[in-house]
Amino acid sequence: MKIKNINGTSDNNCKCTSWLDHWKNYSKQGLPNYCPEATCTAKPEVGAHVQKESGSDSSWYIVPLCKAHNAQKNTTLTISDSISLVSANVSSTCGASK
Ligand SMILES: [Zn+2]
Ligand SMILES: [Zn+2]
Repeated sequence: MKIKNINGTSDNNCKCTSWLDHWKNYSKQGLPNYCPEATCTAKPEVGAHVQKESGSDSSWYIVPLCKAHNAQKNTTLTISDSISLVSANVSSTCGASK
């Protein structure tokens, strides 16, 4: 699938230790060995804010990316279809139980 890496990581916080932990808490997936970008073999180390490239869904999601891909803001990336997109909306995830 195609996603757009948006510049959200530094502007937002959630109750999880990091956005990568937020992804781990809600994806129900283990962290992949490699960055989910199609050709990348670096380790995923950062929870990146992304939007879906196609369709009308403009919600923000978190996916794990390597540091190099996370640094490429406003860039369209092709990532593995098997990776979960976790909502970055804390009112429906880690902020919901308050
Ligand atoms: Zn969280
Ligand atoms: Zn990468």
